[in-house]
Amino acid sequence: MATNRHTTTLACTSCKDKNYTFAHGKKKQYKLEIKKFCEKCGKQTPHKETK
Ligand SMILES: [Zn+2]
Repeated sequence: MATNRHTTTLACTSCKDKNYTFAHGKKKQYKLEIKKFCEKCGKQTPHKETK
């Protein structure tokens, strides 16, 4: 199925756990690194986009 939407996976930069995914349009309007709460680390850590 062709779609314009991409799914981005965010991985914790500390434990490398891939714990966030979200869909976005063609344009990326966010940074590649986002602070998110990581359950494994038990705190907010920088999450990076991964494939
Ligand atoms: Zn983590």
